[in-house]
Amino acid sequence: MTATVDGLRRAESSPLDMRPALPLLTGAQRAATRPELLDIIEYRKSGLSVNWIIGCPLKCAYCVRHLFDNFGMSVPHALMGEDEAADLLAGHRYFQPGLTPIQLLNRATDPMLPRVKPHTFAMLRQLDQRGLTNHVLLITRWRIEPTDCDVLNAFANIKLTVLVTHSGIDDERIEPVDSAIAADSLRTAHQRAERYRVVLYWRPIIPGVNDSDGHLDRAMELSHHAHATVFTGLFFKNQIRDYYQAHGLPMPYAEGARRKVFPERLERRILARAWAGGTGSPLFRKTSCAVTYAHGVADYNGHYGIRELCDICPSAQVRRCARAWTRPDERRATALAAELGGALVRIDDRAVVVDGLDEQPRYLMQHSLGYQVHDVRKPHHHRQHGRADIGWPSQAAPTAEERR
Ligand code: SF4
Repeated sequence: MTATVDGLRRAESSPLDMRPALPLLTGAQRAATRPELLDIIEYRKSGLSVNWIIGCPLKCAYCVRHLFDNFGMSVPHALMGEDEAADLLAGHRYFQPGLTPIQLLNRATDPMLPRVKPHTFAMLRQLDQRGLTNHVLLITRWRIEPTDCDVLNAFANIKLTVLVTHSGIDDERIEPVDSAIAADSLRTAHQRAERYRVVLYWRPIIPGVNDSDGHLDRAMELSHHAHATVFTGLFFKNQIRDYYQAHGLPMPYAEGARRKVFPERLERRILARAWAGGTGSPLFRKTSCAVTYAHGVADYNGHYGIRELCDICPSAQVRRCARAWTRPDERRATALAAELGGALVRIDDRAVVVDGLDEQPRYLMQHSLGYQVHDVRKPHHHRQHGRADIGWPSQAAPTAEERR
């Protein structure tokens, strides 16, 4: 407990921000918290995610906190201090210095909220002072001030990317936060970026909500204020669908889905508009593609194997990924899968296919091999890019532009 309190105190006493430290979760609050949230490290596709603070006042209707019964916690609380969280990360069985991408506070709060920010910065300092050169992803929709950029530029070792979430949704029942805040943050962060990179995280794009031509044009304009732009859809898992139903919100899809929903027709419209009008920074379908392009390195998720993803990628980046992408040695892949408790099924030109491994060990394999790793029981469909089946293939007739 001493380490925890020390960590919080250090964050509080940072010369960069003197706001009071967050409250620690009490014993009673811990007892009422889902065990998954108390387990602060989780391997996700974009990286090993560290979530030592939970609670958020922003209340986006589609928040993943619905999945953890945490949506009602509006005040951020710390589960531990930064030094303890950094130790847990560095000692995690899946963590590899210099290789494993890291994500901070992307599950149950926003890292740039005023009272969370000093802790975010303290954690970044912890990682940087340990000499780690890993990618570090910070996703926010909140305010980024010029003084924050000075801090973000100060790190010497980590490859830091700030992803600014902007949806353009103006229905306050779905997204109470004004999208203009994120737009300002994007401009501020991009204008001052020296050592870090900025990605416009254009999401969630939802048919009938924020996919008008005006919304699309606004996002294309914002793409000028980022090193790369990712566009993607909505996580509409059953708990989120239930929240929409209970609150009388317009239902974008009739059913929930395990994967992100992004209909084919919508993607075609976005790409057609981007080709016609141009974008300021290149568009990407996948987060890691945008992050790695922004830093001038190859994609760490091996998306190059899913070659149809690369048809919108700048040619220099395609060459970079092509050089780095190597079919894994079968013995190594077999041993890795077995060590993690599963089995190798096959290696083909797109992916390593395994059986008996859940998402977290699959992501470990994927990042270790730089090659896609798929579950034989959850096949990926050609051109669907790992998204939900909803809206694929498109049932709508092609537009006149598409027919030309
Ligand atoms: S070449 Fe393909 S895999 Fe590499 S960053 Fe571009 S889209 Fe992603």
